[in-house]
Amino acid sequence: MPRKILVTSALPYANGAIHLGHLVEYIQTDIWARFQKMRGHECWYVCADDTHGTPVMLRAEKEGIAPEQLIARVHQEHTRDFAGFHVAFDNYHTTHSEETRFFANDIYGKLKAAGLIEVRSIEQFYDPVKEMFLPDRFIKGECPQCGAADQYGDSCEACGAAYAPTDLKNPVSAVSGAVPVRKSSDHYFFRLSDPRCQEFLRRATREICKAQPEAVNKLQEWLGEEGENRLSDWDISRDAPYFGFEIPDAPGKYFYVWLDAPIGYFGSLKNLAARTPAIDVAAFTDKAAAAKAGSELYHFVGKDILYFHALFWPAELEFAGYRVPTAVFAHGFLTVDGQKMSKSRGTFITAESYLKQGLDPEWLRYYYAAKLNATMEDIDLSLDDFVARVNSDLVGKYVNIASRCAGFIGKRFGGRLVADDSPLLAEARAAAGTIADHYEAREYGKAVREIMALADRANQFVNEHAPWELAKQAGAEGRLQRVCSQALQLFRLLTIYLKPVLPKLAAEAEAFLRLAPLAWADAASLLPDGHEIGEYRHLASRVERKQIDALLEANRESLAPAAPDSHSQQRHAERQQHAEEKAVVTHISIDEFARVDLRVARIAAAEHVEGAEKLIKLTLDLGAETRTVFAGIKSAYDPAALVGRLTVVVANLAPRKMKFGVSEGMILAASGDGPGIFLLSPDSGAQPGMKVK
Ligand SMILES: [Zn+2]
Repeated sequence: MPRKILVTSALPYANGAIHLGHLVEYIQTDIWARFQKMRGHECWYVCADDTHGTPVMLRAEKEGIAPEQLIARVHQEHTRDFAGFHVAFDNYHTTHSEETRFFANDIYGKLKAAGLIEVRSIEQFYDPVKEMFLPDRFIKGECPQCGAADQYGDSCEACGAAYAPTDLKNPVSAVSGAVPVRKSSDHYFFRLSDPRCQEFLRRATREICKAQPEAVNKLQEWLGEEGENRLSDWDISRDAPYFGFEIPDAPGKYFYVWLDAPIGYFGSLKNLAARTPAIDVAAFTDKAAAAKAGSELYHFVGKDILYFHALFWPAELEFAGYRVPTAVFAHGFLTVDGQKMSKSRGTFITAESYLKQGLDPEWLRYYYAAKLNATMEDIDLSLDDFVARVNSDLVGKYVNIASRCAGFIGKRFGGRLVADDSPLLAEARAAAGTIADHYEAREYGKAVREIMALADRANQFVNEHAPWELAKQAGAEGRLQRVCSQALQLFRLLTIYLKPVLPKLAAEAEAFLRLAPLAWADAASLLPDGHEIGEYRHLASRVERKQIDALLEANRESLAPAAPDSHSQQRHAERQQHAEEKAVVTHISIDEFARVDLRVARIAAAEHVEGAEKLIKLTLDLGAETRTVFAGIKSAYDPAALVGRLTVVVANLAPRKMKFGVSEGMILAASGDGPGIFLLSPDSGAQPGMKVK
């Protein structure tokens, strides 16, 4: 029975270039969608640019163009980059569209009718020069806890404190430089704290996230225990000036960009349906129609936006009479050689530069597939491993089968194959089920391992029968044709299995084998006796390390603070660099130094802090006493690995009240221009409580 599937990737923000970090998700989704289509299912893969909000508005203003011009340009760039990596959306639309406006208004109207929209007056910072309310990211000032200068309105890079923008000392608007004033305004809230929402989410989100236990745990933490009410109402409006959709019954108020972003999935589908009569939009969006059609809806997202997709979005849909997602699949972030992408190291690689350097996009697709699994773990692009794997697997194993055998068939046998079955061919056909299960479960790494194990056996077969030797022997013609035919039959089966990952290479293989586009079901049979193949042409090249080095060089940039971006991975990398730029050197006297009470401490316990991006909560044994310290070292250390270690603590630092509790000291760690945080340790023999001087 063909399934009806709508699948999406998160919408990239229309304010920056697509980079290799983004591509993890688009390649992951594309492989899954291609696989479903090969299986004969009705599968629509839609996406769009996320175009609204303050960053787009201000960026366009800075460039002296209308936001519509900016988003049109970025749309073109994004479309080009995705096509370059063979990401085959059925539609790539924009949220700045009438289709998205239609769904946004409809959902809002229905939530309002259900009594789930509430208007409340809130006080915010307002830029009196620019005459606009300021998002947290557009306010800078001194940290209310440690006094560090030049901090954003929501958290401190220096000490890790989180706070409200109105707590900042000496705040300034990052837009105009003016001192912001407090001003009240009416905001529209989606009442997530309503018991109906709570009850629904407890029931539904576990189902939506059931494929990923770590996501279920996260949701459990966000929702709290039964009877607890941890969810706050969600502010879905922004005041003019704002680039977005005006709320129908509220002049001067606009839908917050995060409200209409996921709605853009449906907008993109509706836009596609207008030129694709086969699509029944309601069967994918309306609650009753979707249930009747048995349609499925899947969202692939980064783990950083799980909150929006597994809580806000299903609740909006449910109470507006829409269908809720079948599942949300969250993935981790990309690291390069074990570290965050960095512009100074040249590892913040854009899709455009990768293609411009002449690297094959299918190398990256293959490497990501080999590394991807169904969890939320980060995936690492290890550059040496990338080179080794592409060369050994794609060139050395897969393509090698065809390149060693096709010539003999072409020259000696008029391109004609013989079809005699063998245990090896039967085994390769039988693997179709297991490999399909791995693709379905998004365990691409396992699928690739199965496929490469078959490729190994195929190469072994070729080595054992050495067609190049048979070609020299008189009277071995029949054997030569059978051996080469069998190898090419294996190559065809491997092509079917690799096709979701390597669509271009598969198309070239289909052309050379003279086949109609291969579907998954074709793995059940062999090419018939006498099938005539075409002339073999070079299918894939080796990647050289020097090409990678040139790519890094092309992406290396001098440090420059960048404008805030609404999508987090890029923003984190940029803010990281921003923090790295700060360095102050002045002299102090020995007496001043002596005032610092440094002590050896043993880390007695270490745990993650819910909701904190950078912090680990440490319980320190100082010999005579125990302290709680929140340390901004989460990016570098796993809490479990810290327990029992000795380190050095500033013991007489004034206690600081942070969002997550009181921090009673500070541990010492080193960091440099590159990423990485390195905790100090005393030599062995030191005891907790010893003074460091
Ligand atoms: Zn601070």
